Amino acid sequence: MNMEFQLKAELKCSGSLSETVSSSEIADFVKLCNTEVLKKGAPPGCGAEIERWNVAGEKIGLKIVSDRFVRAHDALLRVKNEFGKFLGKHSIGIRGMEIEDYAIAMEWEEGLRLKKLPFVKEIKQEEGWLKLSLDVDEFSLEKRIPDRIIRLLEDKREAEKWKGKKEHWELLFESNKKPFYFDKDPTEEMIKRGWIRHAAGRGQWIHGPQSTRIFRTLERILLDNLLEPFGYEEMIFPKFVPWSVWKKSGHAKGIYPEAYYVCTPKTRDPEYWEEVVDYYKVTNEVPLDMIMGRIENVGGMCYAQCPPFWIFMQGKTIPDEILPIKVFDRSGTSYRYESGGLHGIERLDEFHRVEIVWIGNKEQVIEHAKQLQAKYRRVFDEFLDIEWREAWVTPWFMVQEGKAGLAELKEVGTIDYEAVLPYSGKWLEFQNVSVNGDKYPKEFSVKLQSGEELWSGCSGVGLERWATVLLAQKGLDPDKWNAKFRSVVGELPEVFRFL
Ligand code: ATP
Ligand code: ZN
Ligand code: MG
Repeated sequence: MNMEFQLKAELKCSGSLSETVSSSEIADFVKLCNTEVLKKGAPPGCGAEIERWNVAGEKIGLKIVSDRFVRAHDALLRVKNEFGKFLGKHSIGIRGMEIEDYAIAMEWEEGLRLKKLPFVKEIKQEEGWLKLSLDVDEFSLEKRIPDRIIRLLEDKREAEKWKGKKEHWELLFESNKKPFYFDKDPTEEMIKRGWIRHAAGRGQWIHGPQSTRIFRTLERILLDNLLEPFGYEEMIFPKFVPWSVWKKSGHAKGIYPEAYYVCTPKTRDPEYWEEVVDYYKVTNEVPLDMIMGRIENVGGMCYAQCPPFWIFMQGKTIPDEILPIKVFDRSGTSYRYESGGLHGIERLDEFHRVEIVWIGNKEQVIEHAKQLQAKYRRVFDEFLDIEWREAWVTPWFMVQEGKAGLAELKEVGTIDYEAVLPYSGKWLEFQNVSVNGDKYPKEFSVKLQSGEELWSGCSGVGLERWATVLLAQKGLDPDKWNAKFRSVVGELPEVFRFL
């Protein structure tokens, strides 16, 4: 891809250049930069160049042009460094620099229009070129903001290729056909029987004793048949997730439209809140605007469940002999601001999930994913007696970073488990099994004593989804449920009656 960079900057020095350094000395310095310093690392004939320079008192103005090999902002940092050494001989230092103008042009598809970009003053798109005028200072150059803008543009270009294409989905396995005993929406039926009631919040339900018993039965089956035999131990993962975790997990790249945001008061000082309290007391209205000005966002509620666990291992080295590590969490709810697809207990804003995490070397992680898959199949066949299928899909951690396609390594990826809902004929994802490669250990700096690569996998068992699938295919009458399931569930409790 063709790229051109043009940067105008001014270096401010601690003393007057025009008085101390001769023009010919500076000209020689510029020549040295143009032949060596700004060509280093670039193919022959490529790199950056100081196209113009001028000295005025304590300032030296520079115009640097480049191709993509030594980008002009890199060139400027190199020049600053060299110039510092050069001026040192004359006992002058560099005080700072000012970026007057930074223009980047690159070849660009006509169809992909851009409206706004961070640190960009002006965007022009014409004749197959994208022209950006950047608003950057020395600090943003040191933070490599221009490189990140270019990477962002590459991301956008990549995303455009996937737009309109269907998400990756490849059938891996189909279960036997099973008899269905129900053709209605199970949520409707549960409401009718008083098993559940919509809660006060969006996509949130209150589960009565019957529905709760079903969830606990599903957990029991998972524990007895999968987690305990495999030697899993229970942990408690945090349910509030600060941004520092989502930066590492990649969620900070895309979670915004779906997050449940968490805010804390700017201060606990009751006086600071007095006006809010008073307003409520006299109006009976909660003054949201007044509250918004007094709180600040610190992160969000549990979305993917496993990311905050990794802080437990962050920065540690572990001995090889404790592998594989197998832990799970079922300590709380997950939250997603779902779109219009919100439906019954199938798609919720607040849901319950058992999250299973295993950690080991590459072979162990891949091997255990296979063991889990085999065990899950037995559970679905023998206890739930459902009809389902399994598909190889875009890994969940890529989806949640806003990416499409498949992982680079074919061992890394996600299997979605889907079951058909007879009442709608639609397939519903009810859980997944995912090999996440070295992503998490790497992002959270967890190392293995032997130096071997550490891998991990996770599997999310959505309790509402398992229940929906079971009830949609078999109905709500226990005598239609599989005997093995019935023996664990026992008698459904009856507590409430309403007049
Ligand atoms: P879907 O495509 O159905 O929205 P997803 O791909 O967003 O699912 P994941 O991000 O892979 O789901 O989450 C793992 C598991 O969490 C899912 O298999 C499902 O069991 C559960 N889950 C996710 N979103 C919801 C939701 N809104 N309501 C209930 N369960 C959910
Ligand atoms: Zn996970
Ligand atoms: Mg989803």
